[in-house]
Amino acid sequence: MKKITAVSNAKINLSLDVLGSRSDGYHEIRMIMQSIPLSDEITVEISEGDGIEILCAHEGVPEDGRNIAHKAAKLFLERTENLAHIKITIDKTIPVAAGMAGGSTNAAAVLKVLNTLFDSPLNEKELLSLGLKVGADVPFCIMGGCAISEGIGEILTPIKPLSGAFIVVATPDFSVSTKWVYSNFIPERIEKHPDTEKVKDAIANGDINKIARYTANVLESVTERKYPVIAEYKKIMSENGAVLSMMSGSGPSVFGIFDNKIKAQKTYSLMKDINNETFIIEI
Ligand code: ATP
Repeated sequence: MKKITAVSNAKINLSLDVLGSRSDGYHEIRMIMQSIPLSDEITVEISEGDGIEILCAHEGVPEDGRNIAHKAAKLFLERTENLAHIKITIDKTIPVAAGMAGGSTNAAAVLKVLNTLFDSPLNEKELLSLGLKVGADVPFCIMGGCAISEGIGEILTPIKPLSGAFIVVATPDFSVSTKWVYSNFIPERIEKHPDTEKVKDAIANGDINKIARYTANVLESVTERKYPVIAEYKKIMSENGAVLSMMSGSGPSVFGIFDNKIKAQKTYSLMKDINNETFIIEI
């Protein structure tokens, strides 16, 4: 039996633009994602035999073939022509169906850990392309850091991450289906698209004001229209000193970026009183 425990980090979107839709149902996107130190713990155990077992105590996470970590393990075994019994234990902290790639990051961790446990049959490029078969955000989660993601998520350009800031994340108590958000996205209704190049430069310079000026998440208005609490949380964050407050991914998580630790801590306490799943992160 061999076993490895790894952390699996969430991401936030520092920008999100939709460029068009494709005939296969996917959308062409251009977004900036950054890994944040808010993580699940994944333990992968391999032993003789076959079958994939998933253990996760979170009520919103399936423990069978529907779990994206299960899909990742199955594809890994097929691709590398290995046979083993795989037991995956997921200790969830990242809110589920919340716009922070909770599932994708678990799948990425499973692929990386299995590659190590089986003595690296796949190189980085092969691992990324296997990740894409599991899910559009999985390649980014394998890579981590900060990157511009284009195409459907397969074209990744690493960029300098934002650092020296404090982030408050608040996830309202309901989940949002990414599929629903994309199917209700009407391009003509979008008032502001991000200027991705300018946001990239502002991130590199740690200029949060400039990020706020040029960024946007075009999915925000779709989710916000159905769930006004998102606009409410953004407003609370801004009123309490967030230089930028925005929805992550397809939501409903809202994050505020602060350049001041005391204001961030105060906002964290305030938000925590009204919203259970609230986190404060230093990057
Ligand atoms: P993204 O930001 O990539 O859109 P998300 O954070 O909005 O993702 P997830 O947390 O990945 O969404 O969950 C989406 C759905 O996937 C949920 O309905 C959940 O039941 C299912 N799911 C399957 N496997 C997992 C997993 N390992 N962790 C969390 N959710 C999972």
